[in-house]
Amino acid sequence: MSFEKLMLNEKILAGVKAAGYTEPTPIQARAIPPVLEGRDVMGLAQTGTGKTAAFVLPILHRMMRGRRGVVRALIIAPTRELSQQTHDAICALGRKTGLRAASIYGGVSIFHQIDKLRSRVEIISACPGRLLDHIERGTVNLSAVEMLVLDEADHMFDMGFLPDIRLILSHLPAQRQNLLFSATMPREIRALADDLLSSPVHIQIGHTAPAETVRHAFYPVKLDRKTDLLKDLLEKTHTGSVLVFTKTKSRAKTLAGQLERAGRRVTSLHGNLTQGKRKQSLDGFRDGRFDVMVATDIAARGIDVCRVSHVINYDMPDTLDAYTHRIGRTGRACKTGDALSFVTANDGDLMRSLKNLLGEKIEYQKVDGFTEPSVTDDNGRRSSYKPEKPRAGRKFFSSGKPSSPHRNDRKAGGRRLSGWPGRAIQAA
Ligand code: AMP
Repeated sequence: MSFEKLMLNEKILAGVKAAGYTEPTPIQARAIPPVLEGRDVMGLAQTGTGKTAAFVLPILHRMMRGRRGVVRALIIAPTRELSQQTHDAICALGRKTGLRAASIYGGVSIFHQIDKLRSRVEIISACPGRLLDHIERGTVNLSAVEMLVLDEADHMFDMGFLPDIRLILSHLPAQRQNLLFSATMPREIRALADDLLSSPVHIQIGHTAPAETVRHAFYPVKLDRKTDLLKDLLEKTHTGSVLVFTKTKSRAKTLAGQLERAGRRVTSLHGNLTQGKRKQSLDGFRDGRFDVMVATDIAARGIDVCRVSHVINYDMPDTLDAYTHRIGRTGRACKTGDALSFVTANDGDLMRSLKNLLGEKIEYQKVDGFTEPSVTDDNGRRSSYKPEKPRAGRKFFSSGKPSSPHRNDRKAGGRRLSGWPGRAIQAA
């Protein structure tokens, strides 16, 4: 199928072309027609499937007709980074439309956002906490919202945002189109979908299992040998951009420091950083100034960074879902990627669940001088580790749960982002 067949406005097709998209991804092909018809949609889709454009393109199309200068489309996302990323997609795809958009999230000055909202925008991409601040201050008017998107709804639930979402819903007109996207479907999200959506079209792309383009490798190792193993692997492996996950913020900071001292171009991303520092890290990782980013799970969801060739679980995540999301940072948009996980004796339960999820025997990789034999068990075979060579023609491509609600959204600090908040789309 081609984008032309979707009958999108030609100014939007120009944005699609400029973004380099040649054909719709499966979720775009299935979601865009019903959204254009005005139907509610429930999308169950993994990250990296192109779901942002699946709702951004029909929103832009609808906004081309009707009133300008009032907020008509509202997209709510759990984290600042995701909210900014969606805003960036709106600006890029809508560059020729003359529509205006704003991103609204915490950790940065509210006053610039108030100015932006006063200057009249049609589309808002927001995190729940800061949006409620604006609602409470009377600095945003949502009475003309026609389209609502809840993105990564399961993550919003994990972060304790559902009461805020319900409060926001009470400020929207009853008559509107609703789209809900989620990677998983816990009971609470199903209940929210039942309340929110009217005769929705259900779209499921793939399973909530790791992308098939990702190769999984597991390294049994002692706790105190992880850093040396990581350095060894980075030394011997051909990589593009590498995303390393740790369990805690302090470990992310320490590990980044150790890798930097070992001569790596490394940055970190975790909740102790100001919003300005987080943006600097992410931008530097995106544009290739840093080869390695050490992050907590804050980076695991939704963040879109091209060229991530390897995701390394320095610390294993707590849940299968978190594993899926972490490794969803590589192997994006059908490119290949590698997920390397350091497994200690404490990770037995997760390894058993992973074995079921991956539907195959977990293969442990043995690295001379590092392998911890007590970790492997009947669930796993060992195989010898060979430093990889890049696969022929391979292109590197791609992109914590905070302890309290609103942490991502509300924690103050940081500088204003360049070109933020919101800008005329045509100026993007
Ligand atoms: P998402 O799942 O929305 O985070 O998108 C994942 C990545 O796929 C992003 O880098 C998008 O720019 C990219 N993408 C989205 N739609 C397309 C498309 N139709 N063709 C190629 N890349 C796409």
